[in-house]
Amino acid sequence: MDCKEVIKMIPDFLNHKLNSRELRDFLDHIEECKECKEELSIQFLVQEGMARLEEGNTFDLQKEFDWMMEDARRRMKIREVLHFLVYGVEVLAIITIITIIVLIIVL
Ligand SMILES: [Zn+2]
Repeated sequence: MDCKEVIKMIPDFLNHKLNSRELRDFLDHIEECKECKEELSIQFLVQEGMARLEEGNTFDLQKEFDWMMEDARRRMKIREVLHFLVYGVEVLAIITIITIIVLIIVL
């Protein structure tokens, strides 16, 4: 994934609209690429800053940005574990069905 694609995905990232694969590629790139991380933090500050000003709350956007990135990583990992579990259950179900069929044929 190149910088252009990553920059285009920033609004979707901020609105939690990326799928697991996109999210992983996006985060991997952001961690390696200073320019894109900078662009992401600017867009985050603009989006969140405006919302907070309207609410009139005090805020520490740098801290929130770090937290948001950590949260995105965590969510991605949870999704990966879930996919793995679903896959495992499917494999188990298929093995069970095959075993039953084999038993029916043999017995
Ligand atoms: Zn980049």
